[in-house]
Amino acid sequence: MHILVINSGSSTVKFQVIETTDATGDLLLQQKLARGLVDRIGARASYRFEGLGRSTQSGSLPVGDHEEAVRSIIHWLRSNQREQALDAVGHRVVHGGTEFTVPLLIDDGVVEKIDALSELAPLHNPAAVSGIRAARKILGEFVPMVAAFDTSFHHTIPEPAATYAIPYEISQKHKIRRYGFHGLAHQYDIARYADLNGIPVAQVRAVTLHLGNGCSATAIRDGQSVDTSMGFTPLEGLVMGTRSGDLDPALVSYLAQREGVGANEVENWLNHRSGLLGLSGLSNDMRELTAAYAENPRARLAIDVFCHRARKYLGAYLAVLGGAEAVIFSGGIGENSPLVREKICAGMEWCGLKLDAVANSTVIGRDGCISVVEAAIKAFVIHTDEEAIIARETARVIQSKNG
Ligand code: ADP
Repeated sequence: MHILVINSGSSTVKFQVIETTDATGDLLLQQKLARGLVDRIGARASYRFEGLGRSTQSGSLPVGDHEEAVRSIIHWLRSNQREQALDAVGHRVVHGGTEFTVPLLIDDGVVEKIDALSELAPLHNPAAVSGIRAARKILGEFVPMVAAFDTSFHHTIPEPAATYAIPYEISQKHKIRRYGFHGLAHQYDIARYADLNGIPVAQVRAVTLHLGNGCSATAIRDGQSVDTSMGFTPLEGLVMGTRSGDLDPALVSYLAQREGVGANEVENWLNHRSGLLGLSGLSNDMRELTAAYAENPRARLAIDVFCHRARKYLGAYLAVLGGAEAVIFSGGIGENSPLVREKICAGMEWCGLKLDAVANSTVIGRDGCISVVEAAIKAFVIHTDEEAIIARETARVIQSKNG
């Protein structure tokens, strides 16, 4: 089966064409045939299209909206004779609210509901809806499409972990709960970990630390999410590139008053001017901060706060789970930063977590074990592949539809 995976962001459309050679979409039996993106949708968008065994095309062109972006991708696939074989399309959707707890076949009603959920994810769901509408318009009704949600993986979080301690009626009225995000990434991380270790995913008890521009931690028991650090929105939890993560909620009105701005503006600072960028005053990019670590005290502070928070969540989730067999690092920082991994795990021998210094410094940008052989809690690095999970889920939905 040839599956086009579309991941529409606020100003980007990324895609991959993945061939799954068995009907269950098994991760180990997938092959990538093409990939690419249209970036900075607008008057001066850039694109990069890459096909297996073919030369890469890149450049800039005006792309008015998501529909045009999807059209240019499909046009390129067609001109490379790749589109004729498309059997299905899988779309990444950030917010599935309380109703979408599994990936499902898209029809008009599903598109309407995803659109209605834009209230909860104003930056993300409208982009996904545009991508879905565009793909349906261009490819027609006969190519089945599946929506895979970033929130679905977390629907197994039990009530005590999903509920905020605010007036219950207010939570009910406004559908306030811990939804959690990055679900496709965490789901991939444990599926891959299970494959690498030759165990069923339903037996995995682990803490996943997905550390990219956005960062989140998830506690996983029996292969299911039982707690996660992002909450009602992706602002909660770990320190991120430009997001503060956890803080005292009283700070919002305090800062609004002191700085003479509205609560919205403070929220904007917490989303866009905080985290690594706000702390360091230098950059939201961990590479730059790492390079400046030795001589720049603010870069050092940013990395130290980042690692302290991640370590705090790791400890909390080991308590939630009653211990774990593994800690999994993923995302651009988790995959590539021995310094961050070392600082998060330092002094954790008491619970059986000890990194192997050589493995930690050499496993970069690839899958591998970075803990000492005798560690009771293994540490793994996993190169996250959300598209692979979307392709697998798409294949599974199509298989169950075809009976
Ligand atoms: P996103 O959440 O946008 O998908 P990524 O997973 O690509 O982001 O992660 C981006 C982060 O990864 C950035 O902070 C970047 O600095 C960091 N990163 C990438 N390579 C390295 C590296 N070699 N060392 C440290 N951090 C890195």
